[in-house]
Amino acid sequence: MKPLRTLKYKNGDEQPAIGLGTWKSGKGEVTKAVEIALNNGYRHIDCAATYGNENEVGEAFEKVFGEGEINREEVWITSKLWNDSHKKEDVIPALKKTLKDLKLDYLDLYLIHWPVAFKKGVGFPESDDEYYSLEEVPIIETWEAMVEAKKQGLVKHIGVSNFSIKKLKDLMSKTNEKPEALQVELHPYLHQNELLEFCSKNGINVTAYSPLGSGDRADAMKAKDEPSLLENPTIVKIAKKHGASAGQVLINWAVQRGTAVIPKSTNKGRIIENLASSGYQLDKEDLAEIDKLDEHFRYVTGEFFVTDGNSYSNIYDE
Ligand code: NDP
Repeated sequence: MKPLRTLKYKNGDEQPAIGLGTWKSGKGEVTKAVEIALNNGYRHIDCAATYGNENEVGEAFEKVFGEGEINREEVWITSKLWNDSHKKEDVIPALKKTLKDLKLDYLDLYLIHWPVAFKKGVGFPESDDEYYSLEEVPIIETWEAMVEAKKQGLVKHIGVSNFSIKKLKDLMSKTNEKPEALQVELHPYLHQNELLEFCSKNGINVTAYSPLGSGDRADAMKAKDEPSLLENPTIVKIAKKHGASAGQVLINWAVQRGTAVIPKSTNKGRIIENLASSGYQLDKEDLAEIDKLDEHFRYVTGEFFVTDGNSYSNIYDE
């Protein structure tokens, strides 16, 4: 099998560029999906406590690593701290719960999922009093506990997700232990070039989420009477030209930009197809056409964090 492209970390660790996403992968199907992925060459799995399926993802790890053909050390596993565990005393217990569910001793990467703090036990807030304000639980408090988790060897690398340049700069001004990774939404309708450039200059590895337009959220495009990413005529045309599928073009585009990318699928054919995305080069002409598709459109709007007048209503600082 062709070696997978990787993103390099300062200590020499490598994160495979294509990984498997697990958001909305049902409990009854995710174990199989992760097993299929690992047995067909994936070496990067993206998880999160809030996806509600880490226990089932862990069953796949237990089985595959138990069989002995693939070692734990060969696979890059990411998970994310949920917003209700941002207080310093809650971070490591939340991480330990994730490790227990995933049946692992350590994570390769742990991310602060969102720059938003909820009160303990809140999944998605319905009113302002279910949030902590940024003064009550500043992000640096959460970050220092992430740094401690790394010191304890529970995670190899730490980073953040859904942070703007402004929020990255603010965090970086308050710590010597800079985020090593950022996970954000990126696809041809949302290029975020400035953010990518900032990360590149600051040695932050970027992972692209929702690279295919996030499944049912593709309806958001249909509501605007525009094609979903997978049906976009430019993407379809480029796919035909290279004998690839539309999904493969979207994934390859992300890899060529130097990001990692984590398409979600629970379908065996599509899981295999997605990993085989980067066998050819998108040429200058393809890239110029894809450049024209950028319209700053988000599938994951963050609107679920907006209740009446809380301090998180402008989550992306836009
Ligand atoms: P994706 O953009 O990966 O799209 C997933 C959808 O595309 C599913 O409906 C899947 O269906 C379908 N699909 C998969 N492969 C193909 C293909 N080759 N051709 C056509 N359709 C395909 O959506 P996500 O929003 O899930 O993003 C990917 C991952 O990113 C998440 O699973 C999660 O791990 C992470 N993420 C992180 C966030 C964060 O806040 N940090 C937010 C959102 C996502 P099927 O399963 O039937 O194949």
